[in-house]
Amino acid sequence: MKKVVSIVFILILISGCNSKGKIINSGKNPGVNQQLVQDVVSGKSNQNETDVIQAPADEFFARITKKPFSIYISPKISPVQPEKFSGYHTGADAEYADVGGDVDVFGVADGTVVYSGFVNGYGGLIIIRQDDGYSSLYGHLKITSLIKKGADVKRGDKIAELGESFSQDTDGERKHLHFAVYKGDGLNFKGYVQNKKDLAGWQDPVDYLKSFNVRL
Ligand SMILES: [Zn+2]
Repeated sequence: MKKVVSIVFILILISGCNSKGKIINSGKNPGVNQQLVQDVVSGKSNQNETDVIQAPADEFFARITKKPFSIYISPKISPVQPEKFSGYHTGADAEYADVGGDVDVFGVADGTVVYSGFVNGYGGLIIIRQDDGYSSLYGHLKITSLIKKGADVKRGDKIAELGESFSQDTDGERKHLHFAVYKGDGLNFKGYVQNKKDLAGWQDPVDYLKSFNVRL
């Protein structure tokens, strides 16, 4: 009898630890937070998801290994050989030459596609005029995969696939994503500028993305 009383006492103590009256353990599924389960089912536990910004491609940050934003290059000193460009880099390049198959490219913010097509130096190119006052540029894309001009894009939507190395889709470049962000809503195709001060209108894409809650 004494044993039963002690067990009851211990049970009362345990239930007293469940503060704020929340159901921590309904008894049906020991250890499972029923409220959390309900939230997951109803989607409520993902309420922070709306603040998460999509990176423009998987492993985007880790793959910026050759040309980060603002690096000065010329055919002589470029980390990419052979090199046909020179100047200060207006975007960041993420390298995918080692990845076989399709690499999806995603819009990083809500907006409207204002350019979709071939541009010298890029191959397939998309520019999105974003609702936040910036424009984002995605270069070296497979031309047949491009979302059309005028399309509305929601953050995280797939907008294209990367072009394969040394094809028309990359205008003869390796398989990589040139991603750039600039202030304003005009069309700006420049991949390099000749004076450092001309980088002023461009954002460091890494800083820009990291100012949000980026999905890595
Ligand atoms: Zn680039």
